[in-house]
Amino acid sequence: MKQRSTRQVATTYDVVAASADHPTAEQILERVRQKMPRVSLGTVYRNLEKLREQGRVVVVRFAGGVAHYDAMVGEHDHFVCESCGAVRDLEPARARGSNATALERRGYVVRWQTTSLYGTCGECAEVGRQPPVIVN
Ligand SMILES: [Zn+2]
Ligand SMILES: [Zn+2]
Repeated sequence: MKQRSTRQVATTYDVVAASADHPTAEQILERVRQKMPRVSLGTVYRNLEKLREQGRVVVVRFAGGVAHYDAMVGEHDHFVCESCGAVRDLEPARARGSNATALERRGYVVRWQTTSLYGTCGECAEVGRQPPVIVN
């Protein structure tokens, strides 16, 4: 039992580490199931939480609010394509922004900083794919 759960955590980590697309828990479940068909979504969530506590994955939330998992745990920025949802990693734009400095002056503790850029990726731009119109 213990061994199986250790193996499931390891497989979950391998899946996230092999994915550059910042998958959601559901996407990770699909990929873990290719190796371990009987794994449930609850187990994947539990394993992701363990990995997050161990500092081996980070959770990134973009404008949609859904949790995306990232094995790149160092500070970095993202580009999010609003047409196809592709996410790519970027080098952090700068060490510390003026917002962080202003907050720290007011006694806030800024643990880390990430910037997300939104727009249309090269592939989508080339074929003229438009982002969906959001109606509030
Ligand atoms: Zn795109
Ligand atoms: Zn990332």
